Amino acid sequence: MIIASLRRIAALIIGGASLRTQVAIIGAGPAGLLLGQLLHTYGIDNVILERQTPDYVLGRIRAGLLEEGTVALLDEVGAAERARREGLVHHGVELAFGGARHRIDMKAATGKTVTIYGQTEVTLDLMNARSAAGLTTIYQATHVRPYDFDTDHPRVSYVKDGVTHEIACDFIAGCDGFHGVSRSSVSSSAIQTFERIYPFGWLGILSETPPVSHELIYTNHARGFSLCTMRSMHRSRYYVQCPLDDRIDQWPDERFWDELKWRLDQEAADNLVTGPSIEKSIAPLRSFVAEPMRFGRMFLAGDAAHIVPPTGAKGLNLAASDVHYLSHGLREYYDEKSSAGIDGYSEKALRRVWKAVRFSWWMTAILHRFPNTEGFDARIQFAELDYLVSSKAATVSLSENYVGLPY
Ligand SMILES: Cc1cc2nc3c(=O)[nH]c(=O)nc-3n(C[C@H](O)[C@H](O)[C@H](O)COP(=O)(O)OP(=O)(O)OC[C@H]3O[C@@H](n4cnc5c(N)ncnc54)[C@H](O)[C@@H]3O)c2cc1C
Repeated sequence: MIIASLRRIAALIIGGASLRTQVAIIGAGPAGLLLGQLLHTYGIDNVILERQTPDYVLGRIRAGLLEEGTVALLDEVGAAERARREGLVHHGVELAFGGARHRIDMKAATGKTVTIYGQTEVTLDLMNARSAAGLTTIYQATHVRPYDFDTDHPRVSYVKDGVTHEIACDFIAGCDGFHGVSRSSVSSSAIQTFERIYPFGWLGILSETPPVSHELIYTNHARGFSLCTMRSMHRSRYYVQCPLDDRIDQWPDERFWDELKWRLDQEAADNLVTGPSIEKSIAPLRSFVAEPMRFGRMFLAGDAAHIVPPTGAKGLNLAASDVHYLSHGLREYYDEKSSAGIDGYSEKALRRVWKAVRFSWWMTAILHRFPNTEGFDARIQFAELDYLVSSKAATVSLSENYVGLPY
C-alpha cells in the first residue's frame, strides 16, 4: 500500500495535473452514465473514467428489456425520448413447453409493461445527454485505481496518453462491471461474495430479420432452452442454450437456425425468418453478489457488485435501481447534510438485488436442461410451468418480478 502510494505520487510529479470533482465514477456503462446524469440533475459534479473508447462501449450487444422504473429514470434525466418513441412496449410474454405456447398477460396481472430497447441505444442516449450537458468523460483511461476510500479524501489515479493523472473527490462510484478495478481494490477481509456458476451458456445471434413473434418466447425443450427476442421490428435476437465449452466457429448460422427451429413449437418454427447473423457470441451464465456495496467513501453499483443470468432480463435494470438509490443518498448528503441515504445504500440496494437474483436463478432453473434434468426433474419443471400458466397467483408472482419490483 505504502509503495503503491509512493509510486503514485512519483508518477504524478512526473505526469499530469490533478482534477477535483464531487463524485468520481469509474466505468461508462449504463450504471456509470445513468448515475452521472442523475447526479448532474441534482447539481452534483461528477467525472467519468472509462477504459475503452466510446465506439467500443457502444458496440457491446447485451441487454434489451427495460422495466418501467428504468425508463422512468431515463425520463428523469431527459434521455428517454427515443426509448419512448422507438421502444416496443410489451404487455405479455410467452412460455413454450410440451410443444405448446402459453401467453402470460403481465399488464393484466400487474398493470405494468416492459419496453424492448437495446442497451446500446440506452448507452448512446445517455452518452449524448452527457455531452449535451458538457460533462467530463475521460475515455481510454488506463491503469485506473481508486485510493484512500477509507479516508475522507478518496482519490482515483489513471493514465491517459502515457501521462498519470489524479482525481480528488468526495466519493468514488465503482460502476466498472464484473471485471472492473473497484471491487478488486477492496481488501478481501472487507467483502463477502456469493456465486453460482451454471453448467451451460447462451449462444446468441443478432440478425436483420423480423421477429418471429411480437412478444418474447421462452422455451423449455428436451434439447435445451431457447429465447426469441428482438431489438426492433426488423432486428431479432435469438438464443439457444449450449455447452459451456462450445466455440463460435462450431456454430455456423445454418446450424444455429436449425437448432432454434428444433426447439420451437411448430407454428413458430414455420414462421421463423432466418438470415445472416450480424453478431454472434456465447455468454456463460452466472449468479454473483458481493456484500456490502459500500466501502468507506467508495460505492459499487451494477455489474461491479452483482451478476445475474440473463434469463430474467434483470442485469441492466438492477444497474438502474442501484444508481437510483445511490444518487438519492448522495443528493441527501449534499442537499440536507445527512448521511442517512448513503449509510443505507448497501442494505437497500442488496434487498432488491437478492430478489432479482432469486428470480433470475428460478427462471433459469425451470427453463434450462441441467445435467440431471431427466425423469423426476423434467417432470417437476413441467409441473412448475403448467402451474405458472394455470394459476392466477403464480401468473401474478411471475409477472410482478418480470416487470420489476418497486424501488
Ligand atoms: C454478453 C452479455 C449479454 C448480456 N445480456 C443481457 C440481457 O439480455 N439482459 C440483461 O438484462 N442483461 C444482460 N447482460 C447484463 C447487462 O448487460 C449488464 O448487467 C449491464 O451492462 C450492467 O451495466 P454496468 O454499467 O453495471 O456494467 P458494464 O456494462 O459492464 O459497464 C462497465 C464499464 O466499465 C468499464 N470498465 C471496466 N473496468 C474498468 C477500469 N478498470 N477502468 C475504467 N473503466 C472500466 C467497462 O469498459 C464498461 O464500459 C448481459 C451481459 C453480457 C456480458
